[in-house]
Amino acid sequence: MNNELIKKDLKYIWHPYTQMKDCEEAPPIPIERADGVKLYDYDGNFYYDTISSWWCNVHGHNHPTIKKAIKEQLDAFEHVLFAGFTHKPAVELAERLISITPKNITRVFYSDNGSTAVEVAMKMSMQYWQNNGDEKRTSFLSLDRGYHGDTIGAMSVSGVDLFNNRFESLFFKSFKAPSPYCYRCPFEKEKESCSLECLTGMEGILKEHAGDIAGILLEPLLMAAGGMIIYPPEYLKGVRDLSNKYGVHLILDEVAAGFGRTGKMFACEHADVEPDFMCLSKGITSGYLPMGVTVTTEEIFKTFYDDYDKLKTFYHGHTFTGNPVACAAAIASIDLFEKEHTLDRVVEIDAELKDFLKSVQDLPMVGDVRSIGAVGVMELVKDKNTKASFESKKRLGYEIYSRGLKKGLLLRPLGDIVYFFLPLSVKKGELDDIFNRTREILETSSIFL
Ligand SMILES: *Cc1c(COP(=O)(O)O)cnc(C)c1O
Repeated sequence: MNNELIKKDLKYIWHPYTQMKDCEEAPPIPIERADGVKLYDYDGNFYYDTISSWWCNVHGHNHPTIKKAIKEQLDAFEHVLFAGFTHKPAVELAERLISITPKNITRVFYSDNGSTAVEVAMKMSMQYWQNNGDEKRTSFLSLDRGYHGDTIGAMSVSGVDLFNNRFESLFFKSFKAPSPYCYRCPFEKEKESCSLECLTGMEGILKEHAGDIAGILLEPLLMAAGGMIIYPPEYLKGVRDLSNKYGVHLILDEVAAGFGRTGKMFACEHADVEPDFMCLSKGITSGYLPMGVTVTTEEIFKTFYDDYDKLKTFYHGHTFTGNPVACAAAIASIDLFEKEHTLDRVVEIDAELKDFLKSVQDLPMVGDVRSIGAVGVMELVKDKNTKASFESKKRLGYEIYSRGLKKGLLLRPLGDIVYFFLPLSVKKGELDDIFNRTREILETSSIFL
C-alpha cells in the first residue's frame, strides 16, 4: 500500500457516502492503475470492478479506443462555452444519440452529471406546461425507493429515506406511488400471478392530482440505488398508458440502466416504450469523463421556440455543458458497441449470471435472486420464510464489502442487497472467477449468524 498517500488522503479529503471514522480501520485503497475489469493497487493486488466503478464503466478500464479519442480531442481544444458556440464532437454525439434513442426523440440538451440530467428534464417539463398557458403543473409523480440523484431537486423526487429524510424540509412537493418491488410486493401478490396491482396505486394519485402533475419520473425496469429492484416491462408499459390517459409527461431516468446494462441499449426498449424525456449519464462516456444528457421530442422543443420577448427561452446551463473531450469519449464508446458487438456479449453475461444465481439461490440466507442483462442481485435475509432482514447494526453489507476486498472483489452491497453491476466487457473466465470468489464469501456461514 502507498501509506504516504493514505495518510494525506485522510488528512485532506472527505469521501462521498462514507462515514470517515470507518477509515481509521479501513482506509481508502489507493489505485495505481486499472485495466479491463481489474483495478490494481500499489502492491500489485487487483480487485475485480464488479460494480463498474459506481455503475458507469461500460467497455472496461484503459480501453485504447476511448483513450485515443480523448487524446485527439485534447490536442484540438479542451473546452469552449456552449452558448453561441458549438463544435464537431457535440454535433456528432447528438446525431448519434438521436439515432440510438427511441424514434420520437429528436433533441439533445447537454449537462454534466445524472442528477442534473434529471433536474433539466423536470424544469423542461414544467416550463412546457407554462409555455402552453398551464401554470398549475408544478409537481411530479415518482416511485417509492426510486433514486434520481443527490441534489435537492433530484432528492425531492427520490424515495430512499436513509439518504434523504433529514433534508425533507427543503424538498418541493411530489407524489410517490408504491414501487413494483416484486419480492416485497406492497400488495402481497406473487410475480407469477399478479395483475400489476402496483399500477392502481399510481392511477389513484393521477385520478386525484393529474392537474397538478407535470410528469411521471421513474427508472425503467431497474431501480438501482433503491435496492436493485427489477420489475417487469408490462409495468413500464402500464405507466406509459397512464401518462397518456392522464395527459402528463413520461420522464425516464436511464442514468443507471442506459447504455447496454440491461441487455438493450436503453432499458425502455424492453417495453417498447417511447418516453417524452430521457435522462442519461453514468455509462454515456463508458465512465471515462463526466457528462449528462437530457433528450426530448420535437413537440416539447417547439413550445420553447418563439420570439425572444415571449420569454420562452430555457434558462438553464452549466459551465461544462457539452464538454468536447467528454463528447469525444462518448462517441468512441458508442462506436465500440458496434465494433465489439457489446450487446451480444451482454446476452451471454445475462445467461452466465442466471446460472450463477440459480446455484446460490438455495443457500439459507439468499431470500431472492433477480437479474437483467449485466446486473445480478442476491437479496440476503435472516429468515427466508418471513423475509425478515438482518439487524442493521450488524452491518452485513459492510462485512461483505470487507471480505470481498480480501478476495480481490470490489462488491459494494446496498444494505443486505449484494449485486453485480458488471462492465459489459467482462470475459467468461473473469466472470467465473468473480462467481467463485463471491460464492466463497456466501458460504462463510459465520458472517450470517
Ligand atoms: C446515479 C444516478 C443518478 C445521479 O447521477 P449522478 O451523476 O450521481 O448525479 C440519477 N439517477 C439514477 C437512476 C442514478 O443511478
